[in-house]
Amino acid sequence: MQGLPALVQDFGWVEVICGSMFSGKSEELIRRLVRARIARQPVQAFKPSVDNRYAKDHVVSHSGQRIASVEVDAVEDIRRLVQPATKVIGIDEAQFLGLDLVPLVEELANEGRRVIVAGLDQDYQGVPFEPIPQLMAIAESVTKTMAVCMVCGHSANRTQRLVAAEDRVLVGAAEAYEARCRRCWTPDPALASRDERAEAVVG
Ligand SMILES: [Zn+2]
Repeated sequence: MQGLPALVQDFGWVEVICGSMFSGKSEELIRRLVRARIARQPVQAFKPSVDNRYAKDHVVSHSGQRIASVEVDAVEDIRRLVQPATKVIGIDEAQFLGLDLVPLVEELANEGRRVIVAGLDQDYQGVPFEPIPQLMAIAESVTKTMAVCMVCGHSANRTQRLVAAEDRVLVGAAEAYEARCRRCWTPDPALASRDERAEAVVG
């Protein structure tokens, strides 16, 4: 968080936390929101209703940390639900909210709020996952969280899908994914077995 005017009030900005699955995005979002709350800043957190893996009314990390949040079906719901006094806004799993999120985030920051957005920066095929790339471009701060490759143990920034499916994201199917590094990752779930990848990498 270098370079951000953390103590300046009435000065909005945008922070993006992004990376693969299992990289600790939600954990980092929760950490920042908890710190803001300790600083007595009014905080609101939102997450898309498609993501109800753990709890409807909390953002929950894989490690079990949580902060109260409101489920939204669409970007307009966030605009409607943000309280005038709110200084810090957290939005988790932003890849489910689409490109309409970008102008809203700009608007909220221009109103003097700190907006922290977390989400997947790539889909399982390694394709940039809107609206995260667009938000990264307009953000004052971007944090790329890294997971651990389940094949070789190096730092990982890709999400490996282990089962064949057409959907861009399989909601509620964390067991269908694992984190992989650039070398061990493949866009084709049929070629994803750990032994095969480990052999391919060694060879
Ligand atoms: Zn690896």
